[in-house]
Amino acid sequence: MTLLPLHCPPCANDQVVKRGKTRNETQHSLCQTEACPQQTFLLEDSPRGRLPQVKQQSVDMALNGSGIRETARVLRLSKETVLSELKKRGLRGFVWVMFGHFRLAVACK
Ligand SMILES: [Zn+2]
Repeated sequence: MTLLPLHCPPCANDQVVKRGKTRNETQHSLCQTEACPQQTFLLEDSPRGRLPQVKQQSVDMALNGSGIRETARVLRLSKETVLSELKKRGLRGFVWVMFGHFRLAVACK
């Protein structure tokens, strides 16, 4: 049996203890460093669509003229995940407007 030291992803400290499990039986860990920006973390990666930075990126891409399918393909998400995130932000869809040589996406609320 080999024991691997566990490090907190945000602060790289090794003072980490177990702290219960999620509903999906994923181990929750607690970083004991007081200055740690995150304190708790999961050992396994969560699905990409759940990450706040990926969600924000999908909205940014849609607002910058990328279609739903293109956004989903580039960010490796499903179309449903992208659409659901746009709906949560109160954006129902987009209207494409030609402005000279530019194609603009106008978000519909
Ligand atoms: Zn930490």
